[in-house]
Amino acid sequence: YTGADCRLCRREGDKLFLKGDRCYGDKCAMERRAYAPGQAGKKRPKDSEYRLQLREKQKTKRTYGMLEKQFRSYYEEANLQPGVTGENLLRLLETRLDNVVYRLGFAVSRDEARQQVRHGHIYVNGKRVNIPSFRVRVGDLVSVAPKAKDLLVIKAAVVASERATVPAWLEVDVDRLQGSVISMPTRDQIDLGVREHLIVELYSK
Ligand code: SF4
Repeated sequence: YTGADCRLCRREGDKLFLKGDRCYGDKCAMERRAYAPGQAGKKRPKDSEYRLQLREKQKTKRTYGMLEKQFRSYYEEANLQPGVTGENLLRLLETRLDNVVYRLGFAVSRDEARQQVRHGHIYVNGKRVNIPSFRVRVGDLVSVAPKAKDLLVIKAAVVASERATVPAWLEVDVDRLQGSVISMPTRDQIDLGVREHLIVELYSK
C-alpha cells in the first residue's frame, strides 16, 4: 500500500497508530476529520453483517501493515491450530519480529520497525535477522545491532516508547536496547480493539 496512511484510519473510523509521534498530537487526521475519505465520507453507511466483518478484517490487516494474501495465510494457519482461531490469528500477528520491535519501543510505528528489520538493524539471539515476518519464540532475545544503537531514529523511538507500556509478555532493557520474549501473548495482553471473531466469520463463509 503506497497511499496516505491517515486515509486508512479515516476509512476504518479508528486510530490505527500508523505514523508514530504524529498519532498522539493534534495533527492526527482522526482528530481533525473523523469521517471516511471521499465524497460519500460523511454519509452514515448501512450496518450490514458483512460490512462489520469486512471492516474488522481490514482494520486488523492495516494495523499490522499486511496485504490480503499474506493476511489470509495467517488466518489459514491460525485455523489449523488448536484453540480459538481468532486468538490464534492475533497471536501469530503479534509475534512477528517487526511487531515485537515496535512493541518494545525501538520504533515509533510498525512501518518503521519493518524498515529497521529490513536494514539489518535488529538481532535475534545475537544473530542478524532481516525478515520482518520472522516469528519470535519464548526465550528469544531481540536486540538492536551495535552499529545501529546511535541511529537517531532508534533513540527517538525509545524516548517515544516511554509514553507507552510494554506488554506483559515482553521484557525490555532500554539501556541496552534489548528485550526478551517471556511468554506467548494472551488475548488480554494484546492491545488491539478488534472483534477477531468477526474476521473468522468472514473468512469461514
Ligand atoms: Fe491514523 Fe496516526 Fe494518521 Fe492519526 S496520525 S490518522 S492515528 S495514522
